[in-house]
Amino acid sequence: MLEKVVIANRGEIALRVLRACNALGIKTVAVHSTVDRNLKHVGLADESVCIGPGPSAESYLNIPAIIAAAEITDAGAIHPGYGFLSENANFAEQVEKSGFVFIGPTADVIRLMGDKVEAIRAMKAAGVPCVPGSGGPLGDDVDENIRIAREIGYPVIIKAAGGGGGRGMRVVRTEAHLANSIVMTKQEAKAAFSNDQVYMEKFLENPRHVEIQVLADGQGNAIHLGERDCSMQRRHQKVVEEAPAPGITPELRAQIGKVCVDACVRIGYRGAGTFEFLFEDGRFYFIEMNTRIQVEHPVTEMITGIDLVREQLMIASGHKLSIRQEDIVFTGHAIECRVNAEDPDTFMPSPGTVKRFEAPGGPGVRVDTHLYDGYRIPPNYDSMIGKIIVHGPDRATAIARMRMALNETVIEGVKCNIPLQQRIMADVGFQQGGQNIHYLEKRMAEQKEKEAPHA
Ligand code: ADP
Repeated sequence: MLEKVVIANRGEIALRVLRACNALGIKTVAVHSTVDRNLKHVGLADESVCIGPGPSAESYLNIPAIIAAAEITDAGAIHPGYGFLSENANFAEQVEKSGFVFIGPTADVIRLMGDKVEAIRAMKAAGVPCVPGSGGPLGDDVDENIRIAREIGYPVIIKAAGGGGGRGMRVVRTEAHLANSIVMTKQEAKAAFSNDQVYMEKFLENPRHVEIQVLADGQGNAIHLGERDCSMQRRHQKVVEEAPAPGITPELRAQIGKVCVDACVRIGYRGAGTFEFLFEDGRFYFIEMNTRIQVEHPVTEMITGIDLVREQLMIASGHKLSIRQEDIVFTGHAIECRVNAEDPDTFMPSPGTVKRFEAPGGPGVRVDTHLYDGYRIPPNYDSMIGKIIVHGPDRATAIARMRMALNETVIEGVKCNIPLQQRIMADVGFQQGGQNIHYLEKRMAEQKEKEAPHA
């Protein structure tokens, strides 16, 4: 078993990892920036090391500082959380070269999945259904690109091979705009990701976002833990997630789950991972794989009873998967609302001091947050300050519990998006379930229209 783990992250996920380590008797080292000394997990960790100033580039993205922290505390492994260095193949490589365990897949697998062109190629070869597309990077031959787009059929989307965070994409609806769109996306991709490779896919008009959670031990064993529906999005950012996804039958789940499991074994995957799909007209289309724990992992934990971070730590300790596919039982329905310190109308971040915080409670309610009375939210990082997760025997009960939980929550001193989450939970379309990825923005636009004073 691992004896001591460096938690190379902050906020709620650092606390989440610390809790999982504690339950397994693993000692913890919190690494933090100068503005994060007051983080809840820093006080709870066995040891803490300051790794640099507020800006992430000098702290949470500072590879030598993090590895040095592992060295001076004599730790055995590093957990990257999500975001920051979690999907950085160079980091994983340097961690392992320095003699520590990287809690995640091998650097080679991270690198493969970080290049979307290569990832799609590998997934196709493994039998995973992908969006019809160019199957490789686009060249400069305009006629050839026109031929590819005609074959796929408009609208198409041009995407950066090295893209991420919903950036580096452009939808093209007519041939007249194709050549220029490719040039522009390439330029943007080069500036943003230092990689000007782009590829083309069919643009799906009204898909849902449905993803499959997997666990693999890197020793030939893999399982899936069903799906999550993350279609409630704003600017490609997930706002609400749930499991199971409305309307996905056990047969369909078993079928796509098996495809993902087989792909994991084939690429030698190790750890927790997520296959992200667009889901339209009953079919799955792979878009990318996330090689880390995800923000929305708790909804899967709530319906399976499996602690995913614990499993990450067990796998990193060299244990074979102890859970078999047939052991996985899905019970009830879970929903997660992300809580962001932001203006609920303008979405401007709202850092500052939390004067009062009261968490909700009751049956089936879980709160993953690092907030406490008097906590000062620094302006340097992502505005997510926590997650409220509910579980119930069915979706309607879960929604009712979430509505109560949101009503119970008190956050004073900073603005937060709870009013938006309350509107979503009260929305008839959301309550029906199965809405597509454009639904939330469409409803928000309609709402704005209604509120605008008529001329
Ligand atoms: P990123 O790594 O930047 O998040 P993804 O490939 O996961 O990029 O795509 C992000 C989002 O962009 C998707 O969730 C979806 O909303 C939209 N998108 C990507 N590819 C397509 C496509 N082929 N058709 C329709 N929408 C797409």
